[in-house]
Amino acid sequence: MTDTAAVAEAAKESIVDEVAGGAEAPEGPRFTLELNQDQKDIREWVHGFAEGVVRPAAEEWDEREETPWPVIQEAAKIGLYSFEALGQFFADPTGLTLPIANEELFWGDAGIGMAIMGTSLAVAAIFGQGTGEQIGEWIPQCFGSPEDPKVAAFCASEPDAGSDVSAIRTTAKYDEATDEWILNGQKAWATNGGIADVHVVIASVDRELGSRGHAAFVIPPGTKGCEQGAKVKKHGLRASHTADVHLDDCRVPGSCLLGGKEKLDERLARVREGKKGKGQAAMQTFEASRPTVGAQAVGIARAAYEYALDYAKERSQFGRPIIENQAIAFTLADMKLEIDAARLLVWRAAWMGRSGHKFENAEGSMSKLKAGEVAVWSTERAIQILGGNGYTREFPVERMHRDAKIYTIFEGTSEIQRLVISRAISGVHVR
Ligand SMILES: Cc1cc2nc3c(=O)[nH]c(=O)nc-3n(C[C@H](O)[C@H](O)[C@H](O)COP(=O)(O)OP(=O)(O)OC[C@H]3O[C@@H](n4cnc5c(N)ncnc54)[C@H](O)[C@@H]3O)c2cc1C
Repeated sequence: MTDTAAVAEAAKESIVDEVAGGAEAPEGPRFTLELNQDQKDIREWVHGFAEGVVRPAAEEWDEREETPWPVIQEAAKIGLYSFEALGQFFADPTGLTLPIANEELFWGDAGIGMAIMGTSLAVAAIFGQGTGEQIGEWIPQCFGSPEDPKVAAFCASEPDAGSDVSAIRTTAKYDEATDEWILNGQKAWATNGGIADVHVVIASVDRELGSRGHAAFVIPPGTKGCEQGAKVKKHGLRASHTADVHLDDCRVPGSCLLGGKEKLDERLARVREGKKGKGQAAMQTFEASRPTVGAQAVGIARAAYEYALDYAKERSQFGRPIIENQAIAFTLADMKLEIDAARLLVWRAAWMGRSGHKFENAEGSMSKLKAGEVAVWSTERAIQILGGNGYTREFPVERMHRDAKIYTIFEGTSEIQRLVISRAISGVHVR
């Protein structure tokens, strides 16, 4: 094992131990809204980048509908786009730094934010399911270097498997003679799909077991048989690349199975014996990332709210600023209220997830659901407050509204979050 691998393994073990420890009443940092100095410093650092670099570039890259490589490079140069930064955000035992950093970045611009943060889903999968050696080998390759940054993609969804992850048809077959896995299938809507150096692909190793027969594989850079399909033209988040990925007899070394074959065989044997499996490969990644995704939505909502507040103070009609009308002022009051409520749910879930409190009532899903819906609603209200200007591309709230909409769709639609919450609170298998 390399040094990086050993450090990664140790860090992971300590985090996993902390998170797994004491299911009843975990010892950990108490929840407080008083941010510590580190959290404030990071918030200020990311905000500075969002304000100085991301915001000014937002309109251009939304129009171009291309990956903003120069901005990613700027983020890499200051260390924001790196495993070290992501690791530092994640390492905060209160769990709040990751959502704080995401909120600030996406306050700058969501399309560029996703171009920078899209890699983290693949990183989360490798970190969560990989061995120390795999973490040490693949995560640095997800980011590349500041001079030559790279991105990574996490590919779970398929044309016929979106909300229903268990319907995944991509297969992975083991070739004992060569110690290789052979992947075949089509992935859909992959953020960074095809332009990534490292792809993490969820595939079925045993279709009969449904989602419990899934496993996650790393596809190393330049692997034959892994090609980008159609690039998706989108409503919003247009600076973030989304595309299909085709896997045609794509052979990867045995070592690319995250967690290793021994662990997979053990898990499959348990499932075949009717014992409970330890959760699904794709769902584990989504579960952990929901509060972070919620924080991104809060960032968009806050950006639209702040813009609308300033505008309402400046714009005059009938001889007075429009904010003097209760209809406008009360809308802004409600926006502020909803955004703060969403952030509190996000912080609660982030703290619970990081400090080992079980999501008894699907608090992770609650946070993502609320934040996504608040982002869509607040950005739409912001357009209303700006009137005709709000509807044009001359003003940013129109873009923010387009960007916000994805937050009720990806990483589990609002309906799926409600399904998860209703099942958790009722114990009933609601359909
Ligand atoms: C911009 C973008 C980026 C993405 N990035 C990634 C990525 O990086 N990696 C990845 O793997 N995927 C990614 N996705 C895919 C995304 O996660 C899926 O689009 C999402 O999970 C929904 O699946 P679907 O589109 O197939 O919708 P469907 O599952 O077909 O749902 C259609 C509608 O039916 C509803 N519905 C479905 N089942 C139920 C039910 N049981 N009860 C009630 N309502 C239901 C849904 O809520 C929705 O309203 C991305 C998608 C987009 C648009």
